Amino acid sequence: MGQITLKQVTKSFGNTDVIRPLDLEIGEGEFVVFVGPSGCGKSTLLRLIAGLEDISSGQILIDGQDASHTPPAKRGLAMVFQSYALYPHMSVRKNIAFPLKMAGMDQAAIDAKVNGAAKVLNLTDYLDRRPGQLSGGQRQRVAIGRAIVREPKAFLFDEPLSNLDAALRVNMRLEISELHQSLKTTMIYVTHDQVEAMTMADKIVVLSAGRIEQVGSPLDLYRHPANKFVAGFIGSPK
Ligand code: ADP
Ligand code: MG
Repeated sequence: MGQITLKQVTKSFGNTDVIRPLDLEIGEGEFVVFVGPSGCGKSTLLRLIAGLEDISSGQILIDGQDASHTPPAKRGLAMVFQSYALYPHMSVRKNIAFPLKMAGMDQAAIDAKVNGAAKVLNLTDYLDRRPGQLSGGQRQRVAIGRAIVREPKAFLFDEPLSNLDAALRVNMRLEISELHQSLKTTMIYVTHDQVEAMTMADKIVVLSAGRIEQVGSPLDLYRHPANKFVAGFIGSPK
């Protein structure tokens, strides 16, 4: 579960080629980080995988099945948005329960899932509060909780910590890594922050102008950067 394959995937907006023919293999349970400078196509690539944008050509396989044009809700993936995407008028409990309610699940099953997610995320004591009564880190956990209850094949994160201050970012980085270790679900994490990439990833995908410059473990990239761009970006001495 959670194996994602991209074959010669491209995306153009009008005359602008944002993703060039791109091949990528994401293994079951991997923590993969897309890193690269602003505007290189990280968010677009994530949105193509999520189905929020339609590919221009190529193929996307999820667990071996062609999902190139499958609607987002049927891909079994969960996008974790930044915490400001929470519903301010709803309690934490209702925010987390929202996707299950939409899916028509019965209340007892919803309660069990929400309580389970709250436990994993240390939110049990905050379920009756509203987002406005929480810290930035707690709000981000609620956003993650809303993804967890759907039991997705993969979690997709687009710069989830960019709204948080530096100290909190370090904390949340650890929490997301721990979550990955306990759930063992595939995670794709977009960031422009090299430190996040180097500390969180099993596999880093370095992007520049819609192309993959290099794919490898943090250590591979650090020791054997494919070119000056990767070396400069990762901060290795080459
Ligand atoms: P990143 O997330 O790496 O900063 P994006 O994927 O957001 O980069 O954007 C990559 C490029 O695609 C940018 O030049 C951006 O302006 C362009 N782009 C993204 N979305 C659209 C869109 N809906 N229409 C036109 N151009 C877009
Ligand atoms: Mg982006």
